[in-house]
Amino acid sequence: MFIDSHCHINFPELAQNLDEVLANMQGNDVSTALCVGVNLENFPQILQLAAQHDQIYASVGVHPDHEQDTEPTQAQLVGLAQHPKVVAIGETGLDYFRLKGDLEWQRTRFRTHIRASRECRKPLIVHTREAAQDTLRIMAEEGADQVGGVMHCFTESMEVAQAALDLNFYISFSGIVTFKSATTIKEVARQIPLERMLIETDSPYLAPVPFRGKLNQPAYVKHVAEEIAKLRGISLEEVGQATSENFRRLFFKDQTLSPL
Ligand SMILES: [Zn+2]
Ligand SMILES: [Zn+2]
Repeated sequence: MFIDSHCHINFPELAQNLDEVLANMQGNDVSTALCVGVNLENFPQILQLAAQHDQIYASVGVHPDHEQDTEPTQAQLVGLAQHPKVVAIGETGLDYFRLKGDLEWQRTRFRTHIRASRECRKPLIVHTREAAQDTLRIMAEEGADQVGGVMHCFTESMEVAQAALDLNFYISFSGIVTFKSATTIKEVARQIPLERMLIETDSPYLAPVPFRGKLNQPAYVKHVAEEIAKLRGISLEEVGQATSENFRRLFFKDQTLSPL
């Protein structure tokens, strides 16, 4: 069995074919998917998906690329995270690739999410792009290691991975690890401890080989697992089992939910 630790199945490309998306998960042994929030405006849809489907969980947060969306307060995030199927705060973090200029508001927003995460004791889902040093610095300053979380869609070096591991974070690999050119990411996937690794699709984006360029979906997380099995010289089953156990340890540790 496999778990997609990060997807956006509330986005219209996937939401309009939800029955098919869920059937494909089942057909590919993908037991569970975490539908990650990117703003407060769409959070009700995510919560509804999670409430209606046993295999779907939710997170609440405002993405660093969403400059125009409602700025969340710590109290708002904590309040929305009270629902039993909301298992994390995020995605949050820093993105110096898509947005330029004075990004102090991104760093302030990131700090708000970390404080909310510590207050409600739910782990963080961190997005970082061309901003690794600031991301790690703010995580350390705000005590993100107290709650832990995941560096999602990991595209950084082994040094950054090690620093995140030292802060009690997991590393999640997306379809990018299947791309031929992703040599550094493949190396990180070989080296980090299996017990700190997660897999994800980030669908509808970033479809893995052999679907690269097409619409991605949670069922394809199996192809991410296949690549990691190949890189580490272990079986597909071992990758599926370890990453699913890791997911449950990270996101369900303080909860009475019985996750499948
Ligand atoms: Zn992201
Ligand atoms: Zn995402």
